[in-house]
Amino acid sequence: MLKPVLLYPNVLLTNKCHEVPESAFVSEAAIEEATKVLEEKIALSSSEEDKKTLTAEKENLASKLREESELGKLVRDLIDTARINNAHGLAAPQIGVFKRVFVTKTDDQAFKVFINPVVTVEEGTPLSRNKEGCVSFPGVLQWVRRPEECSVTALGLDGLEFTVDFDELDAIAVQHENDHLDGILFIDHVSKLEKRYVLKKLIKIKKRYNLGLAI
Ligand SMILES: [Zn+2]
Repeated sequence: MLKPVLLYPNVLLTNKCHEVPESAFVSEAAIEEATKVLEEKIALSSSEEDKKTLTAEKENLASKLREESELGKLVRDLIDTARINNAHGLAAPQIGVFKRVFVTKTDDQAFKVFINPVVTVEEGTPLSRNKEGCVSFPGVLQWVRRPEECSVTALGLDGLEFTVDFDELDAIAVQHENDHLDGILFIDHVSKLEKRYVLKKLIKIKKRYNLGLAI
């Protein structure tokens, strides 16, 4: 069952997240071991049909093991929760998991996972001002200034490191999600006055939708 999205002002949203340890990834040794077991089954199988099925299973074995791991399930939960809530991205602390993992939609509208991400912004990168929203702040849109370009180095579910350069709205989205991993919320980027306005707005939303936010 999917975990509900934590709503502001749940204090857990300001928790800092832990790095995902190497042991959380499916190791090459585990994949080799499972492959051997399948190969033995294929060798022992007398039915051609079974052999075919098992061979197909062998081809997808690594990704299946990764998807079924605890880390894989977290990624699945994040993607499904983001989809259900119509979110562009979602970070693990938003569903109460304090690990450095977030997902965000990429150009082709598929979700990409970033594990232990490091966001780099080149010195002198211009700031752009955009209206941001967050599923933890239902109904709130706020102008936020952020660098308009950045690059992210992270691990995929396969444990391999990759680096992607982002610009425009994609750059804003990954910075927003990465902030969540440090307990930083988008309203932390606005003035105190604007923050107060956001809180007032949340109270109104609470009354309207009876979300039960304890403000
Ligand atoms: Zn957010």
